[in-house]
Amino acid sequence: NLKGKAALVTGSTSGIGLGIARQLAGQGADLMLNGFGDAGYIAELCQSLSNEFGVRVAHNGADMSKPEEIEAMVAATEAAYGRLDVLVNNAGIQHVSPVDAFPVERWDAVIAINLSAVFHGTRAALPGMKARGWGRVINIASVHGLVASVNKSAYVAAKHGVIGLTKVTALELAETNITCNAICPGWVLTPLVQKQIDALAATRDLSVEEAGRELLSEKQPSKSFVTPEQLGELAVFLCSEAAGNMRGAALTMDGGWTAQ
Ligand code: NAD
Repeated sequence: NLKGKAALVTGSTSGIGLGIARQLAGQGADLMLNGFGDAGYIAELCQSLSNEFGVRVAHNGADMSKPEEIEAMVAATEAAYGRLDVLVNNAGIQHVSPVDAFPVERWDAVIAINLSAVFHGTRAALPGMKARGWGRVINIASVHGLVASVNKSAYVAAKHGVIGLTKVTALELAETNITCNAICPGWVLTPLVQKQIDALAATRDLSVEEAGRELLSEKQPSKSFVTPEQLGELAVFLCSEAAGNMRGAALTMDGGWTAQ
């Protein structure tokens, strides 16, 4: 139960982050959402989550590629709720290209948003968690934090980095009631993956449904997508006292992807 606690989920206006935010709100946590989107859509999202779960919900539009905006967002969360107990570092982007053709600007953006932002969020949130004596840092890595795929050099490098950072953070906090763990999803049907399905459909002349099945069958033995709700339930478990001695783990939820 997270009643009286506050959670910040980066990149939570869509996809996995939104799924996790919903589950945390379901446990009673007040929410600070983050991510891009139309102002009207975001205002409605805050209102509907607040109505559905009876918690306070606000949004901070920090650009996760900007360290000073991340710091300010953590401060704004502590100012709004008087605390920040659960930090979910989730915001992420993808770019697909062979390494020797990878646009330098895309490399920098993927590393900034998928890796450096995890560092900046964590470093800003830890002093308050330490002062209050309890905290959960949950990093959304990927199967690509554990294994590679072609054409995803920046993403794979960033996600491997997130798992390394998770381990160091966990070790530094090992004697405290603050834990840090990573979740490693396989394919989840979100806008980030829909783009890759659409690209596959275009290059192989497939329907979108066929391309989705093709994408799954290449890597994910279950041949079904992991859902944001399932990932949210895992995040809720990591927030529980039962998970109090899980430290520095990289937990897969990947339909068997990395068991092969
Ligand atoms: P998504 O595109 O649906 O959502 C990404 C969220 O991040 C959105 O809310 C977006 O507005 C936000 N965002 C993007 N750039 C931002 C920036 N610069 N500043 C602030 N917010 C920003 O993607 P998703 O699939 O839900 O991915 C979420 C996380 O899960 C990412 O870290 C991704 O790498 C990881 N992941 C996704 C999958 C998958 O199959 N979808 C698998 C493994 C890991």
